[in-house]
Amino acid sequence: MPRQVYNFSAGPAMLPPAVLERAQSELRDYQGSSMSVMEMSHRGKIFGEIIAQTEANLRKLMQIPSDYKVLFLQGGAWTQFSMVPLNLFRRSLKADFLDTGSWSAKAIKEASKYGTARVLASSKDKNYTYIPQWEEVELDPEADYLHITTNNTIYGTLLPSLPENANVPLVADMSSNILSQVYRVEDFGLIYAGAQKNIGPSGLTIVIVREDLLGHALDICPTMLNYETHADKGSMFNTPPTYAIYLAGLVFEWGLAQGGIPALQARNKAKAKLLYDFLDSSDFYHANVAEPDRSLMNITFHLENRDLESELVAQTEQAGLLFLKGHRSVGGLRASIYNAMPLAGVESLIAFLTEFERKNA
Ligand SMILES: *Cc1c(COP(=O)(O)O)cnc(C)c1O
Repeated sequence: MPRQVYNFSAGPAMLPPAVLERAQSELRDYQGSSMSVMEMSHRGKIFGEIIAQTEANLRKLMQIPSDYKVLFLQGGAWTQFSMVPLNLFRRSLKADFLDTGSWSAKAIKEASKYGTARVLASSKDKNYTYIPQWEEVELDPEADYLHITTNNTIYGTLLPSLPENANVPLVADMSSNILSQVYRVEDFGLIYAGAQKNIGPSGLTIVIVREDLLGHALDICPTMLNYETHADKGSMFNTPPTYAIYLAGLVFEWGLAQGGIPALQARNKAKAKLLYDFLDSSDFYHANVAEPDRSLMNITFHLENRDLESELVAQTEQAGLLFLKGHRSVGGLRASIYNAMPLAGVESLIAFLTEFERKNA
C-alpha cells in the first residue's frame, strides 16, 4: 500500500480508492475474459457492454432526458471551445458569453474565429475573483447560444445561479463541477466536461447534447469535430478512449452507490463549509472569493503574510497533503476537493493549517 496522502490536485485529480482497487482487480482479467479492457476491440461484445453500461449509469446519475445524446470524445474541454461554435453557429453566427475566467476567455477566443462572440459581462478587472453581474444585461435573442463556465477551476468561483429565460441554447463548460451538484440537464442545450476532474482519467471528454442541435455544423467543420459524426456511431466512429470510458463507468457506479448526485452534493457542501469556515475564522489565512460566488470544488486562499506561502506549500507536500500550490496566475493556495476527496482529507488539511498558524503566527 502507498503511504496515506491526500491529493488536492486540480486535475488530473484523485479518484475514489474503491474505483482504483476494482480496476486493479480487473486489470489483467476483465470478468473472466483473460484480457484487460485495454486490450479489447472497441467493436467487441464486451466493450460494447461496458460503454452501454457507462452511458446508462451517467444517464441515471444526471437524469439525462432521452432526447439528449451522450458522447464519449477525446481532445479535452479545449477541443470543445472549437467544436461548440463549429456545430452550433447556424443562423446568426453570434453567441453570448460570460467571461468568468481564463477557460471562458479561451472559449470566447476560439468562437470568435467562426463568428461573433459577445461578452455579456466579465470579471477580468479583478483577476476573476468574483462572478460579474449579468442578470441585468439583455441577452441577444438572435444568438445561436449562450456560453457559461459553471465552475472556474483556477480562481475558485461558482456561478451561483443559471441564466433564466434564455431563449437560446445554454452551453456549459462543466469540466470542474459536473456530478458535484444537481443541475437539470433540460436547462441546457449542451454540457461538456473533460473527465480528469470529477469523472475519471484524462483523455476522455463527455458531451451531453440536445438532439435538435445536431446536424447543422458549418460546412468547414472537420468530420472529427462534427457532433453528428460521433452521435451517429455511438461514439465509435473511430477508436474511442476505451480504458478511460471503462474507468469513468466505475466512477459513475461509485457515484450511484454513494446515493447519487444529491448525496454527493450534500457531502461537497459539508466539506467546503468546513474549510471556508476555518479560513473565515482566521486572521492568518484568507479565502480569495466571497459569498455567494464560492466554489465547492476548488477552494482558493492566501496567507496574510504572503512571504510564508512557499514554505507552507513545501511543508504540506512533506506531510502528504499534495498539490496545494495555487495556479500560477493567482498564487496562494488552492485545495481542489472534488467528489472523490473524503471529509477526512479536508480535516487533515485544516489540522495542518492550524498547526502551521500556531508555529508561524
Ligand atoms: C480543466 C479545465 C479545462 C481544460 O480541460 P482540458 O481537458 O485540459 O482541455 C477547461 N475548462 C475548465 C472549466 C477546466 O476546469
